[in-house]
Amino acid sequence: MSKPTVGIFGLTGCAGDQLVILNCEDRLLDLVALIDVREFLMASSENDTACKLDLALVEGAVVSQRDADRLLAIRERAKILVALGTCAVWGGVAAMDRGADRRKLLEEVYGEQGFSYDTQATKALHEVVKVDLNITGCPIEKDHIVTAIANLLNGDLPVYPTYPVCTECRMQENNCLLMERGEICCGPITAAGCKARCPELRVPCVGCRGPVHDANPVSLAAMLAERGFDREAVATRLRTFSPEGVAQ
Ligand code: SF4
Ligand code: SF4
Repeated sequence: MSKPTVGIFGLTGCAGDQLVILNCEDRLLDLVALIDVREFLMASSENDTACKLDLALVEGAVVSQRDADRLLAIRERAKILVALGTCAVWGGVAAMDRGADRRKLLEEVYGEQGFSYDTQATKALHEVVKVDLNITGCPIEKDHIVTAIANLLNGDLPVYPTYPVCTECRMQENNCLLMERGEICCGPITAAGCKARCPELRVPCVGCRGPVHDANPVSLAAMLAERGFDREAVATRLRTFSPEGVAQ
């Protein structure tokens, strides 16, 4: 039986999620034995850029017409398209300026020359094409990509935590940075799956995995404001990785 064909792509992002796949070390050979990777520019100089794909894994956000055209072409080729990482799922850091005057930003950074650049307001993948599965994280967790591929090969979808980082944090019996130390922590509204890596190290969560399903950023912002935090500082922290989630 022929192996499923797979393409791994990067739009605008830091390539960290692709790197996580390459860093799967002991599992990499098992993965390659099960799938036929036809296109993975970051890892191979031999790429089939036109074949049909059973699975496309796409990292990064859409910030230009070039990104949008590439994504549409990938969608045309792929039976299943997976958004890989917070930029692909939510827009990520690049979407932090959503709502700002883009011409003004271009002028401030590049001068008038910036007006000729191919650039547009940042979009997550689902705002451009149909996405079949989201794997969030900045970067994604190794276990999440490995189990996703295993599940998809099996014909079903992986199940990820639907609860917030706070749940994982409290399960590890950490003292709460928000309630006990009065630090701005995004754990209550951020999707779990990282095992509360940062609060475990006494560093407040910055929400890098994007909002949990029923996130209530308005309530968290109000609670932080009651405790004397500057509203704008709170809003800035909350929108760093997922402006869409904050707008909920
Ligand atoms: S430290 Fe942060 S993640 Fe942990 S319980 Fe408190 S608010 Fe939640
Ligand atoms: S604790 Fe928050 S910032 Fe740290 S890895 Fe998890 S989601 Fe990201």
